Amino acid sequence: MSENNLTYQCGETALQEAVAFCQANDFHRFTLVSDTNTHAVLGKRVKELLRAQNWAVHTIVLEGQEIIADVATLNEVLAHSGSDPGVYLAVGSGTITDITRYCSHQQGSPFISLPTAPSVDGFASANASIVVRGNKESVPCLPPIAIFADLSTLRQAPKTMIAAGFGDMIGKFTALADWKLAHLIMDDPYDAAIAARVEKALQICIDHREGINLATPPGINGLMNGLVESGICMSLAGNSRPASGAEHHLSHYWEMLLLRLRRPAVLHGAKVGISAVLISERWQQLHSLKTGEIKRRLKNACIPPSQKEQEIIEKAFPTNPNMIIQGQSNYLSMTENEFSSLKKIILRKWKKIVEIAAAVPPPEKIISLLQSVKAPIAVSEIGLSKQDEIDALLYAHYLRNQFTILKLGRFLNLWD
Ligand SMILES: [Zn+2]
Repeated sequence: MSENNLTYQCGETALQEAVAFCQANDFHRFTLVSDTNTHAVLGKRVKELLRAQNWAVHTIVLEGQEIIADVATLNEVLAHSGSDPGVYLAVGSGTITDITRYCSHQQGSPFISLPTAPSVDGFASANASIVVRGNKESVPCLPPIAIFADLSTLRQAPKTMIAAGFGDMIGKFTALADWKLAHLIMDDPYDAAIAARVEKALQICIDHREGINLATPPGINGLMNGLVESGICMSLAGNSRPASGAEHHLSHYWEMLLLRLRRPAVLHGAKVGISAVLISERWQQLHSLKTGEIKRRLKNACIPPSQKEQEIIEKAFPTNPNMIIQGQSNYLSMTENEFSSLKKIILRKWKKIVEIAAAVPPPEKIISLLQSVKAPIAVSEIGLSKQDEIDALLYAHYLRNQFTILKLGRFLNLWD
């Protein structure tokens, strides 16, 4: 499969195809980035395959229990890359890929992704998810030039990582609903063809859930294809909206919280799957609102006072509130007139909002899908408290300058 100059192969012969790809493109100098785990399961084999061709392979094996794509790690990889890194090879899952994506972009060298687990949809993405001063940032870079996914390596990945990949895909239900909502209310750009591709990728993963649970070749192949397709759709859209909405904001909120409190990290897709359950509950609540009730709420809704909003952000994000306040500037500077016209738009389009809500599966359905691959369904299973859940639902929408169901709820006081 090749699209947007991205070559993608998933199968038993993916590594041989990677070598053929490098031969065909006259690549013979590489910087391979991995961690101790991913080096053992795949990196070492890749290095030997390339060295057998008499190619130069420089390896950077990151050490430590938990690799974080923060400034310190990025600097470490850049410092060890040398002045002529050649083609970067990202051997790992989401974090290693993001670190490599960022460094390859900084160095102006292309990178090839060699995933070790079907755990996340970011492989094909152009954006690197980076931790800057405690905040999770999406930094524009470039997608890989190729992804070679060795199926037997992916099948042997920890079950929790496979389930996390499925959770990341399940999050597309609510991400797509938010994208439609933002288009409807804020006139954000929307592409129905891209949305349809994400929906199809999601359905393929759902159809393969038994195989995903058992890590069969078709199951894992289906999941990996869905994850890569989702990343391609983000690249095509030029932003993360086709694959990321309020459910990802909850996940980012918890990730930052765990980092700040120095608590153990939780897999991205595990958090996203649980968040999809919580956000689908919000859509269900919205769906059940009577027209008279929504009219009353709109009539009573007042523009959130900017000063109060800033105080909430400072309390919720003590590490670096200013970055978040800046990101929210268009909401914080909203005038009474703008707020009034926003309320009118919401009322005028309420029927369509309800249609979007009706298309989101109910929480029971999302729970049963997650359970089919033994993914966690509640925050208590990933070491988070009920308060962490409440806080995320209240504050996570401040993390991105995006209109989502949580933003709508904030303006209308829907969850009071
Ligand atoms: Zn994701």
